[in-house]
Amino acid sequence: MTGGGGKIVHVRVDHDLCAGVGMCVQFAPAGFRFDAAGQSEFIPDGGWSVKALQEAADACPMSAITLSFTPADTP
Ligand code: SF4
Repeated sequence: MTGGGGKIVHVRVDHDLCAGVGMCVQFAPAGFRFDAAGQSEFIPDGGWSVKALQEAADACPMSAITLSFTPADTP
């Protein structure tokens, strides 16, 4: 997923930690939604911004969301 700044953002939601609190859905509704189990899942093709994803990750009380970045030209 290309995020801006020539970097690709990778988003991981740890379902061992996610308690379905929903802060991520609130902060980045284009980036996260609840799955059938009531846990958060990333929406790869959502109209999210990296800033919104970062805010969602920061807001998660369980620290279940991890963002990582790689340069867009890395194979
Ligand atoms: S804010 Fe965190 S704990 Fe809550 S649904 Fe999102 S990932 Fe899960």
